[in-house]
Parts: sequence; C-alpha cells; structure tokens
Amino acid sequence: MTATATKNGVKVKTVKMLIDGQWVVSARGTTRRILNPATEETIAEAYDASPLEVGQAVAAAKKAFDSGIWSGKSPAERAGLLLKWAGLIEANLAELAQLESQNTGKPIKLARDGDIPFAVDNLRFFAAASRVCEGSASGEYSPGYTSIIRREPVGVVALVAPWNYPLMMAVWKLGPALAAGNTCVIKPSELTPLTTLEIARLAQEAGFPDGVINVVTGAEETGRALTSHPDVRMISFTGDTETGKKIMGQAASTVKRLHFELGGKAPFVVFEDADIAAAVQGAVVASFVNCGQDCTAATRIYVEDGALKRFTEAFVKEAAKVRVGDPSKADTDMGPLICAEQRERVEGFLARAKGAKVLLGGARPKSLKKGFFFEPTIVSGVSQDAELVQKEIFGPVVCILSFKNEAEGIALANDVPYGLAGSVWTKDVQKAFRVANALRFGTVWVNDHLPIASEMPHGGFKQSGFGKDMSKYALEDYSIVKHVMVETTGAARKPWHYTAFGDPA
Ligand code: NAD
Repeated sequence: MTATATKNGVKVKTVKMLIDGQWVVSARGTTRRILNPATEETIAEAYDASPLEVGQAVAAAKKAFDSGIWSGKSPAERAGLLLKWAGLIEANLAELAQLESQNTGKPIKLARDGDIPFAVDNLRFFAAASRVCEGSASGEYSPGYTSIIRREPVGVVALVAPWNYPLMMAVWKLGPALAAGNTCVIKPSELTPLTTLEIARLAQEAGFPDGVINVVTGAEETGRALTSHPDVRMISFTGDTETGKKIMGQAASTVKRLHFELGGKAPFVVFEDADIAAAVQGAVVASFVNCGQDCTAATRIYVEDGALKRFTEAFVKEAAKVRVGDPSKADTDMGPLICAEQRERVEGFLARAKGAKVLLGGARPKSLKKGFFFEPTIVSGVSQDAELVQKEIFGPVVCILSFKNEAEGIALANDVPYGLAGSVWTKDVQKAFRVANALRFGTVWVNDHLPIASEMPHGGFKQSGFGKDMSKYALEDYSIVKHVMVETTGAARKPWHYTAFGDPA
C-alpha cells in the first residue's frame, strides 16, 4: 500500500489511498509530510487527493451502494464482517497503537490501553446492535391501510475526521455507517491519516466488498470536494465548530443530512461538599488527557467559594506530577501537541490573557528541545467573559473560577456557546440530579469526568453540534425512516381517499 519517496536524502513511505478496492496514488502527485509531533521527524508522506480522486471514491461508493452488495446483505452478514474486522484490529493492536502514538504524539498507554481497545469494543457493539434494529410495530392508522416503518441506509456517507483520536474517530463513524448499510468515503485529518489507512487495509483483509470503504487523504480542498459532492447523501463531521459552519454551507445546495460533533468547552463544577481529593484527581486527568486535545476535556473548573483555596492548592500540586515527555515510554502521562501551529495557538491564548495568573506551567518545557511540547497549565484570575473561558483552546490549559451558590454555578457553567460535556462534583445526591438536569450539555458526569461507553450516546448541544456517536442513537442517525402504506381492501379508490378520517362522501 505504500511507495517510497526520498526527501532530503531520507527515505519515507508515501501512503496510498483506497478507492474501489485499489490502493492508488493521486494523479496530481501533491503530497504532504506526516510528522511525529514528539520528534518533529517526517514518518511518512500522504497524498492530497484532488477533486478528481474524490469523485472516483464517491463513484465507487455509489456503485457499491446501488449494487446492493452491502445494503442487501442481512444484518447477520454485515455483523459477521464487522466482528471479523474488529478481531483483526485487536490482533494488530500493538502495531496500531505504536503507529497512532507516533503520528499523534499521544502516550503509548493511552493508544494501547484506551483508544484502540475501546474502538474494537465500539465496532463489536455496532455489529451486535445492527441485528436488533427492528422497526416500530406495523399498524392501521387509516381505514383499509396497513402502515409499515422501514429503516433504510442513507446511501453514500462522507466521513470527515479530526486528528486528536484518529483511529477511534474513524471507527465511531465507520461502525454505525456500515452497520446501517451505507457505503463510505472517509477523509482522515491531513495530519494523522496513518491508522485510518491501516484499519482500511484490515477491513479489506476481513472481506469487505470493494467500494464499501474508500479512504481519501488530504486537507481542506479534499474535504470540500467530498462534502460538496452531489452524490454524497450524508456528511458525518467531527472537528472545529468553524469548519462545521463551512461544511453546512457546502452541503446546502444538495440538501445533505448532517451529523456534527464539534468543539467543546467543558465545565467541571465542584461543590464545597464534594470529595475534594477525588475531584482533584479527576480534574488532573480530565484537563490534561491527550494533552488537553479532547473535545470533552475539563477546561473551566468552577469551585464553590468555601472549597476554592483547598481545591486549587491540591490541584496545582497534583498537576505538577504529570509526566510530560517521550510518548513511547510506558510512564509518560502527556505527550506533545499535534503540531507547531497548535502550540502557537495555545501560546497565543495565554499571551492575550491580560490579568491571568499562571499557577502552573504556561511555557514549553525547557528540558525537551524537540517536539511540540507544552507544560500542563493552570490559570486563575480570569473573568467569565475572557477569551480563555469562552473559546476552545484545545491544549493543556485549564482555568479555575469560583461560584457562590448552586444557581450561580449552573449559570456560569452554561454560559458558553458550546454544549458537549460537563461534570458536577458533590456528595449530595439531590443536588447532583438538579445540577445534572440543569447543565445544557450532551453528557453530564456526576463525580467523574471523561468515561464513555459504547452503549451510551456522545454528542453535543448548542454549537457543539447535533447527532450522536456510539449507541443505538448513532445507528438511527445513519439510517433513514421510510413509511410504506399498503392498501388492504382491494376496493376501488376515490381521489380524496388520502384522508385519514375516511371517505367524506
Ligand atoms: P478541523 O475542523 O480543523 O478539521 C477536521 C477535519 O475537517 C479535517 O479532516 C480537515 O481536513 C477537514 N476540513 C477542514 N476544512 C474543511 C472544509 N472546508 N470542508 C471539509 N472538510 C474540511 O478540526 P481538527 O483541528 O482536526 O480537530 C480539532 C477539533 O475537533 C476541535 O474543535 C475539537 O473539539 C473537535 N472534536 C470534537 C469531537 C466531538 O465529539 N464533538 C471529538 C473530537 C474532536
């Protein structure tokens, strides 16, 4: 699946794309370097697919869809292939984890023990769920007619993924799309295409028919060609809210279905009566997991006045223990940011934050000369309307603010344009329920922050998007409901017989 190119005397692989069961190069030949963010070394090159190749991939997916080679399979057959594929991913877990860690800079333990086993579980869930997707009961809603609800695949689905969890995001999209009978063209992030291509190779090995899964690589131009292609019926996009707004425009002229998982700015609300030690531990993981490049990462910690000092001191002390460094080492907790631009973006936020007090970090670690590393950073002294509190930073920077009472805690937590996830920390069960209900976020944790499950939905409110990943709700999102109405009397019909209230004559 790879060709070899020479760049500055160093040999690197140029990864090919998968279109209609063939591993292909881009005719235009434009490539981009794929970096290891921890070393800044080039580990591969990937093509920027032109609109021509995007068109070929969509045509392959359309041909596969129209032929019924995939949608015509029984749920048991589709589930069988998904399970075989999950098994192959699991069998190749060590290599995939290493590749994911090299391409993203995430600690090997996160890829190996977290993202990839979870993605395998996700695929297995969708394999099973596709077999229990029965319709509503059929019934008679108009005299002389029986109505049936069918749930059908949408058609060709364009899947556009981000760089923070490349393999897992690919699976979150491919799993439900394929389980529901759609055919797909996936475009991984231009920064992190490697594991998506690898799992596509494993899907081929599992026996998925040609054209059911196509992978094109490239950046905005490729994504634009894909999401505006007239034969794409649905777009599933995970990424920045601003990119989502552009994609809405690109999809408008052909009225495509949209499934959007966009940015987040998660609140972490700690009441005085919480188990403060547990909240501190939870806050360290929630703020700095994946170097803060997580759409559900805790970014705004609100602490009730009476616990502010206690929590802040303990949090700074615990966060200082986060081990930043070489992602391939077993004991590394936090790797680098994904690229130089992302680190500059994070630095820009801090430079503009007038009056902010940096309690921890705030700079590049002096001991790490190469790689896009940045220290775990805790900031206080910022107001609710500050850019640091309102905008998604997507880096290891968390703000601490305070609140006076329950009503104020809820109001501040809700006061952002995003609505993906948040958490509440308290020992008072009634308060926990009240606050969880009042928070306008797609996921709310009580006394934890981050855990997810294949059976449960993940998706946003407000400008964090719409549509759910994982769970039976994703299967519903990737399928379309059809009403089939059967005339059961055989009697001659009058033109006004469409009325549900019988024959007016
Ligand atoms: P991004 O929006 O820059 O890019 C995402 C993808 O969109 C990439 O594949 C990119 O090439 C493509 N793209 C860019 N412009 C496009 C266009 N005009 N048309 C079509 N495709 C286009 O996002 P990113 O920087 O890769 O990822 C970080 C963002 O993803 C953050 O905002 C984060 O919150 C979000 N995210 C959200 C979730 C969630 O579940 N809500 C999960 C992970 C990441």
